[in-house]
Amino acid sequence: MKVYADNAATTRISEVAKKEMLLCMDKFYGNPSSLHTVGQEAAEKLFEARKIIADCLNADIKDIYFTSGGSEADNQAIISAAEAGKLKGKKHIVSTAFEHHAVLHTLKRLETQGFDVTYLDVHRNGIVAAEEVEQAIREDTALVTVMYANNEIGTIQPIREIGELCRKKGILFHTDAVQAAGHIKIDVQEDNIDMLSISAHKFHGPKGVGVLYARKGVRLFNIIEGGAQERGKRAGTENLPAICGMAAAFLEACENREKNAKKVSRLRDLLIEHLSKIPHSILNGDRYNRLPGTVNFCFEGIEGESLLLLLDARGIAASSGSACTSGSLDPSHVLLALGLPHEVAHGSLRLSIGEYNTEEEIQHIIQTVPEIIGYLRNMSPVWEELEKGERKHVI
Ligand SMILES: *Cc1c(COP(=O)(O)O)cnc(C)c1O
Repeated sequence: MKVYADNAATTRISEVAKKEMLLCMDKFYGNPSSLHTVGQEAAEKLFEARKIIADCLNADIKDIYFTSGGSEADNQAIISAAEAGKLKGKKHIVSTAFEHHAVLHTLKRLETQGFDVTYLDVHRNGIVAAEEVEQAIREDTALVTVMYANNEIGTIQPIREIGELCRKKGILFHTDAVQAAGHIKIDVQEDNIDMLSISAHKFHGPKGVGVLYARKGVRLFNIIEGGAQERGKRAGTENLPAICGMAAAFLEACENREKNAKKVSRLRDLLIEHLSKIPHSILNGDRYNRLPGTVNFCFEGIEGESLLLLLDARGIAASSGSACTSGSLDPSHVLLALGLPHEVAHGSLRLSIGEYNTEEEIQHIIQTVPEIIGYLRNMSPVWEELEKGERKHVI
C-alpha cells in the first residue's frame, strides 16, 4: 500500500486545478498586458482568479498580488515593512523562533543590515503567547511577523489577538499563512492582518505560485523590477495557468473546508490516539489547537532519518521535521524552539495527511510505525542503555 502522508511538504494537484491549468494553456495563452482580444481574454481570466482568491480571504481584489510562491511573498512582505520602517527610523522586528526559513533567513539578512530582531520563544505547546508579542513591541518596532500555523508541528497561533494588538499600536502585522490557507478559516479583516502569504502547492494547487495579500495603505517595495504587472509591485508576465490552477484549488478548498477538516481531523485523531501508545513517545505541540492534518511525534532512542527510510520501504511517505532540513543532521529549529533536548529532537516524525487519505491508509500507518520503532530500538545501543537504566529517559 502506498500512503502519501507528507502534505505539509506539498500536495498532489487536484483534478479541478489541473483541468483549469490545461484550459488556460490551450485557450488563454495571450499576455494579459496586450491590448488585443487574445490578451484581454487572458486579462479577464486573471481578474477572475484574483476575485476568487480575494473572496476566499475576505480581502479586497486590489490587495492581492501574485508571486512565485510562499517564499517570495514572505520575502516581499518582510522587506517592504523593513524598508518602510527604515524611512521612519524604525529598525526593530518581532517574530518567533519557529518560523519557516523563508521568514527566518530574510530576518537574518536584515540583521546584517542593522535591524534588530526579537525571536520570541514558543512554549512547549508550540504556541506563542499574544501577551509576549505585546511585551516585545518597542517604540521603534516596524513589523510583527508570526506564522498562522506551524509547518512542522501544525500548531495554530493566536493570529487574531496579535493582529488586534498590532492594529491598536499602529504596527504592521504580517503572517505566513502558507500552512493554514485552504485548511482553516482565514479572514484578513476579522484577523486584523496587514500582510499575508499563501502558496498554492500546499492546498492541491500547482507549485511555483502564491499570493501576497497587502492591505490598502501598506507600502510594498519591489523584489522583482520590470514591467507594471501586479499594480507595479511585482514585475514579470503573469503565470496564468498556475494562477488559474491556484484559484481553482483555493475555491475548492474553501468551499469544502469544513467537510474536509472534519474528515481529516478524525483521521488525525486516530493517529494521535494510536501513536501516543508507543512507550516513550510524545506528541509535539498542543493536542487540540492544531491543523486538521498535521501531527508530529518524538520517539526516544530513534534516529528520525532511519525511521523515514524504513517507512518509505513500507510505502509510507512522511517527513522528519521540515523538508528543508531533512538530509542534514541538524535537529529541527522548530523542535529546539519548543525546548526539546537535541537527542529527542532527532527522533521526530511528521505525518501530514489530507482529504485524499483514506482510513485504510491511516490504519496502515498505525500498524507500521510501532513495528519499525520496535525494530530500530532493538538495534539501538542508546535504547539498550536506557533499558538497562544506564541512561535516563527524557520522555
Ligand atoms: C511551504 C512553506 C513556505 C514556502 O512556500 P513555497 O511556495 O514553497 O515557496 C513558506 N512558509 C511555510 C509555513 C510553508 O509551509
